[in-house]
Amino acid sequence: MPDDQPDCLFCRIVRGEIPATRVYEDDAVLAFRDIAPRSPTHILVVPKKHVGSVADLTDADGPLLGRLFGAIARIARDEGIADAGYRVVSNVGRWGGQTVDHLHFHLMGGRAFAWPPG
Ligand code: 5GP
Ligand code: ZN
Repeated sequence: MPDDQPDCLFCRIVRGEIPATRVYEDDAVLAFRDIAPRSPTHILVVPKKHVGSVADLTDADGPLLGRLFGAIARIARDEGIADAGYRVVSNVGRWGGQTVDHLHFHLMGGRAFAWPPG
């Protein structure tokens, strides 16, 4: 899979072709606010390189996942949701509810969440 997909929505956000409210960025990771937030804090954390979903990850992506989850923990602290707790979700495929085929973790907080999800 090429690192950069011309028509992928989140690759386009990474490249700056589509605007997004960026809350964190480094060489490997971008985080931006979800356009249709489902909780007071709803941020999408994505790898800058194109990965389709969790289903495409391999052992070689271990360092990338460390970077992604490190960013998630840091953003949660910066957003002030860490003490109360929050949810991290990655939807995979049709039944998982995935609508954008570029790996992303929903960082959601600011309210309590039900379990199991609907
Ligand atoms: P999924 O449904 O794949 O788990 O999550 C995709 C998320 O991307 C949804 O929560 C949706 O609101 C968000 N989203 C879709 N298009 C855009 C966009 O153009 N900009 C931003 N910031 N979020 C988007
Ligand atoms: Zn992409």
